[in-house]
Amino acid sequence: MQDEVLILGGGVAGCAAAIALARKGRSVTLIEREPTPRHKVCGEFLSGEALEDLHALGIDVAALGAVPIHNVRLAAARRAAEAPLPFAAASLTRKALDTAMTAEAVAAGVRVERGRSVQSLSRTTEGAWWATLDDGTSREAPTAFLATGKHDLRGHTRPKDPEQWVAFKLYFRLSAAQYADLGDASELMLFPGGYGGIQPVEGGIANLCWVIQGRHLARVGHRWENLLEKMKRDCPHLAMRLEGAESLIAKPIAITHIPYGYIRRSTDEGLYCIGDQAAVIPSFTGDGISIALHTARCAVAAYVAGEPATAFQPRLRSALVAQMRLAEVAADGLNNAFARAILPFCLRVWPGVMRVTAKLTRVTQPSAAAPQMVVN
Ligand SMILES: Cc1cc2nc3c(=O)[nH]c(=O)nc-3n(C[C@H](O)[C@H](O)[C@H](O)COP(=O)(O)OP(=O)(O)OC[C@H]3O[C@@H](n4cnc5c(N)ncnc54)[C@H](O)[C@@H]3O)c2cc1C
Repeated sequence: MQDEVLILGGGVAGCAAAIALARKGRSVTLIEREPTPRHKVCGEFLSGEALEDLHALGIDVAALGAVPIHNVRLAAARRAAEAPLPFAAASLTRKALDTAMTAEAVAAGVRVERGRSVQSLSRTTEGAWWATLDDGTSREAPTAFLATGKHDLRGHTRPKDPEQWVAFKLYFRLSAAQYADLGDASELMLFPGGYGGIQPVEGGIANLCWVIQGRHLARVGHRWENLLEKMKRDCPHLAMRLEGAESLIAKPIAITHIPYGYIRRSTDEGLYCIGDQAAVIPSFTGDGISIALHTARCAVAAYVAGEPATAFQPRLRSALVAQMRLAEVAADGLNNAFARAILPFCLRVWPGVMRVTAKLTRVTQPSAAAPQMVVN
């Protein structure tokens, strides 16, 4: 039996779209390559917009143990500055979030096929979308949602990442004193060639996630242990946080080649691209999940309203472009040697800058009267 919609990738964007479509009575098959949800490279910060979208989907993050985050701290070298977040935020492991979203999709009636990787996606001569899976079988539907996140499908690739960013994530049990000192804050740390963040997640542990440009990783012999030691030397605040900490994973999970700043310009008829397949915002803004949820919601609204994917995708692009460019400028600033040199000044003005940047780099929520999406 052929479903109306095929969703490729069951992360936040794919699950959110699947849930919304199934609730609107559409028959949906979602294909996810991982047999069960697992840890993903992510800072696991949920912005206010993400929390609103998750709530609307019926995901109760508090019941899943999400930790409320009220403050943000910026640390570089020996200095740190703190500002209250101008919106509600929380943190929750991706494993817990993805598990809950998949369960919600199943409950909504989505046919979820896990442990099957999509190898290729092409159009049939009748104009349907045809996905070939790794077991040699195929699935077909008139409409497809591409939600494979960082991973490109053959024939649907995004431009290469010139900086060759590499991202890592580790979980730590901090010492009691450091855990108390971290408190309800998300801490952003700067070091040459990259930046990272540490924040509490459920279960009394902390997530340390960081990104580094490929050439800086090469300078430490491509070894994450050397890199972490260098980061601690460059940012003593991180060394302090990790003093007496127990690492809960033997080695970090990592991903490479993240095309930060990418926004998809166009698509093919019947193919809606969402989440990181629509736009990849610099990690430090903690906005990727809310963009994934937002683009899923907008794509579902467009599909249900009969707006062709070829009209929707450029419209989505123009709605996101200002926010994306601002986030890029802010991320470039953090990575710039001059910016680090004037850091003492930056830290003095940080609370004000943080409040403004945090507001400007948010996904704008549509009002109740205009439920589709924001257009510039
Ligand atoms: C270092 C780093 C830190 C980040 N920190 C944060 C943060 O703190 N807060 C925040 O909001 N955002 C953060 N982000 C961004 C956020 O993680 C992403 O924007 C978000 O996960 C995108 O959701 P998605 O559904 O598009 O992709 P994903 O959540 O990655 O889901 C894609 C899914 O597709 C599946 N898949 C891939 N290929 C195939 C295939 N061929 N066949 C079938 N399935 C496939 C994958 O297994 C995966 O489950 C961070 C990103 C990075 C790199």
